[in-house]
Amino acid sequence: MTGTARHDELAANLSGMRVDVDAACAAAGRDPADVTLIVVTKFFPASDVEELVSLGVRHIGENRDQEVGPKVADLPEEVRGLLTVHFVGQLQTNKANRVARYADVVQSVDRARLVTALDRGAGIALDEGLRQEPIDVTLQVDLGEGEDRGRGGALPEDLPALADATASAEHLRLRGLMAVAPRDQDEPGVRAAFERLAQLGEDLRKDHPDATWMSAGMSGDFETAVTCGATHLRVGTRIMGSRL
Ligand SMILES: *Cc1c(COP(=O)(O)O)cnc(C)c1O
Repeated sequence: MTGTARHDELAANLSGMRVDVDAACAAAGRDPADVTLIVVTKFFPASDVEELVSLGVRHIGENRDQEVGPKVADLPEEVRGLLTVHFVGQLQTNKANRVARYADVVQSVDRARLVTALDRGAGIALDEGLRQEPIDVTLQVDLGEGEDRGRGGALPEDLPALADATASAEHLRLRGLMAVAPRDQDEPGVRAAFERLAQLGEDLRKDHPDATWMSAGMSGDFETAVTCGATHLRVGTRIMGSRL
């Protein structure tokens, strides 16, 4: 609510964030309208999501089914209707049916079995009237090298087959790629990783021209991500604060 300390904190963090995204876009010669800010609200309550919506946020990200299912269900209908909910966390196949009920977007698809499970879940949710649209999907890419592999995501060499499977799934729409920067990299290292992601996106569009999304950039590296062409930023701590 306007006037509460939490409202004021979120308002200030959000406006600071928007200023910085605009500046990063200006420096990169990009239109801010081409960059979607997703506020990652994991650990934080539904009341924070309502505050964010009142401040103009239209995209939220969540990473744990146990938390996000009830949280999204708790939102007033008119608030939920304004929001696009992105699932960004690692997803077990046996949770796919549940996530398919509430997620508008699943960003963390990294294996063929998950494609099958989500497609089936989306089909059921569509039949039951729990959703009206297919699930928008980005494929998560593992950008780690050598020992650094394993932060989640498909290996680059596995992307073409995964993309074909997603594109041919009846209730999924292939939108593009997502990645988390490799651990312990300095700015040049992060930049090299995001440039690689951008290149993989270009390769993907030879067969899938509509797969235009590049989801990259978090609180610590969103400026680099904007420079490298990210279309979707996933920002948590910078806006929400540290975990309660
Ligand atoms: C938590 C999380 C984010 C947000 O990270 P911050 O550093 O808090 O901005 C982004 N993407 C994924 C996949 C996450 O799990």
